[in-house]
Amino acid sequence: MKKLTLLLGVLVLALGLLAAGCGGGKKAEKGQDPVLTKDELIVGTEPSFAPFEFPKENSKELTGFDMELIEALAKDMGYKKCTIKNMGFDALIPAVNNDNLDVAVSGFTITEERKKQVLFSQPYYKSGLALVVRKENADIRSIDDLGGKKIAVQIGTTGAMYAEKLKSKGAEVKTFNTSDLACMELKNKGVDAVISDRPVLQYFLAQGGNAYAKMVGKALSAEDYGIVISKKHPELQKALDKSLDNLKQNGTYDKLYEKWFGEKPAK
Ligand code: GLN
Repeated sequence: MKKLTLLLGVLVLALGLLAAGCGGGKKAEKGQDPVLTKDELIVGTEPSFAPFEFPKENSKELTGFDMELIEALAKDMGYKKCTIKNMGFDALIPAVNNDNLDVAVSGFTITEERKKQVLFSQPYYKSGLALVVRKENADIRSIDDLGGKKIAVQIGTTGAMYAEKLKSKGAEVKTFNTSDLACMELKNKGVDAVISDRPVLQYFLAQGGNAYAKMVGKALSAEDYGIVISKKHPELQKALDKSLDNLKQNGTYDKLYEKWFGEKPAK
């Protein structure tokens, strides 16, 4: 009898090991999208968008609200590893659709136009566009003063789309690969104004940009950020939304929000 128990014990142990080896950290359910059962979540971002995604000082490692949020989400979803890949902002949606990335997290505004191409998670941050000019500029006080002026924007962004509409009022639009480069052009007097996301411009001003730049006028838009997912993976969208709910309930989301924005998220 003792022998039999021992034998059974060994068998159970062996089966357990086998299951762990096959299934990774998670248990695959029949018919489930394999993207949910692999060990590693591959995330794409354009990392010059502080405080959402940017390199740590003297390091290639990325940090920011988006980066810490997706790390926490990946963990909650059961992935063992969350790998971040850098690429141009306008390359992110194509890479998600080619399955080169599982998701893109890069301060993406949820727009109707993008929804034709990809799925979005539930909104995770309330944002909007704003206008920045040089400190000494006294004639641009709002968006209505941009006729005949030069505006810098980041390629493929909602700021670029907004500026496009101002062309009919005689504005000239210069496009840059990153928001940082657009602000640099303002410093170098190559443009009169920058249109970009308000929290990113606020962070840029607080980090020293206010030596030569200031924000003017009201917020230009109200936008929600979402995580980008391919239309091929609706189950991944559901799983992300569920984990976002979990992080909102267990306090992780609020903790990250307060860490990066110095205030509690608006309810
Ligand atoms: N929120 C803006 C957009 O989605 C800008 C994002 C970014 O530059 N990373 O277009």
